[in-house]
Amino acid sequence: MTLTLYNTLTRRKEPFAPIDPGNVRMYVCGPTVYDYAHIGNARPIIVFDVLFRLLRHTYGPEHVTYARNITDVDDKINARSAKAGIDIRTLTEQTTRQFHADIAALGVLSPTVEPRATEHIPEMRRLCEELVTRGHAYVAEGHVLFDVASMPDYGRLANRSLEEMEAGARIEVAPYKKGPMDFVLWKPSKPGEPAWPSPCGIAAPGRPGWHLECSAMSDRWLWQEPQTRGLLSKAGLKQPHVFDIHGGGIDLVFPHHENEIAQSRCAYETAVMANVWMHNGFLQVEGEKMAKSLGKVITINELLQEWPGEAIKLAMLSSHYRQPINWTEHGLTEAKRTLDHWYELTAGTPEGAPLCADVLEALEDDLNTPQAIAALHALRSEAARGARPAAACLKASAYLLGLLQLDAAQWRAWRPATLAITGKKIEALIATRNAARKAKNFKEADRIRDELAAVGIQLEDSKDPATGKIKTTWKAKR
Ligand SMILES: [Zn+2]
Repeated sequence: MTLTLYNTLTRRKEPFAPIDPGNVRMYVCGPTVYDYAHIGNARPIIVFDVLFRLLRHTYGPEHVTYARNITDVDDKINARSAKAGIDIRTLTEQTTRQFHADIAALGVLSPTVEPRATEHIPEMRRLCEELVTRGHAYVAEGHVLFDVASMPDYGRLANRSLEEMEAGARIEVAPYKKGPMDFVLWKPSKPGEPAWPSPCGIAAPGRPGWHLECSAMSDRWLWQEPQTRGLLSKAGLKQPHVFDIHGGGIDLVFPHHENEIAQSRCAYETAVMANVWMHNGFLQVEGEKMAKSLGKVITINELLQEWPGEAIKLAMLSSHYRQPINWTEHGLTEAKRTLDHWYELTAGTPEGAPLCADVLEALEDDLNTPQAIAALHALRSEAARGARPAAACLKASAYLLGLLQLDAAQWRAWRPATLAITGKKIEALIATRNAARKAKNFKEADRIRDELAAVGIQLEDSKDPATGKIKTTWKAKR
């Protein structure tokens, strides 16, 4: 079977044919580093990690280039830095370190390159100049703006006409803009904000717009570098500046990806920026929208205190990537239990077993992870009946989804960093246990002791020498 992927650009599933099978190239929009990454941010990281693994399996690990950027210059960063009283560089570096630590715990592979926006300012300036020269951008009041009217099929990715977008736009139209949908490529920096020498003869220093960053970084790492370093075959050189796959969350389709396309296609005069555009669906928490304003944001870091990274990953992959996902505690509990069982069954199985054809086939069908997981469950049933080859195959196949990467002992040793239970609840359970013991219901008393032990709480009974009564204390075992 060949790999088929749903392409947002054409709105259908298509067989995937890389431009250069010797160097399959993928770009995914990475985080803006101003705060802890939340689970909505984790979804594209996890989804495109599975695709990266599948491409490496299909074309060979050294024949895939995956670029995922770090946006370290942005309005949100400036605002957070001012509010928190931390300088911008310290904030972006701290946040980037935290992001790396969090996603490492999720067990995803590192991308081939992780370009940072602030290290690509010359490329961004050149893009501005190019777009102005070609008549797709103009300078107004210290800004460089993209002239949307200069691109006949602007809106193709979002599948909306310019008129529809203008009617739906609730943006305050700056007087210096020619058209209401024209967007910023470069803008003047306010005092105290990061600033670089401006392009296009603008005297005042400024900074790039967000959309421009991805156009500059993707071209540098997926076209210029591979080309100059001879990493592309003749086939790869046939479509200059175009790469294979561009991914991100569905919320990025408009305006971010539409504008990336406008910039890149108009600067390089190409028919497409990337051949395949992939978008993961929204994420809800317990049936509701996750929004900072509602105080409902769950960070990856918070979750990792209570759950192993692979459980988070399995819970995430249990929904198809294009479907909205409803994130629940129940889903995580199930995922953890499943992995406990899989680890137990696959302990000590030999490495290098063949992959399960059903798992591979499911993933090749537009990354159908729920079906791949169902195939893994089928293997588990076989393995549970004592079939060692099935257990070895389960381990090898789960690895393609980035699961069962630890050894069984490591998995068993995992403990939550913060207690999944409050002190109040522990005291209440101790009281219930003491009452049970008084009533000589030792079975119930032991059950409560075991329940607490399962969440890392150890009870110690001692006789109070003064009163002769049994006193129970508890401590958390890490
Ligand atoms: Zn982007």
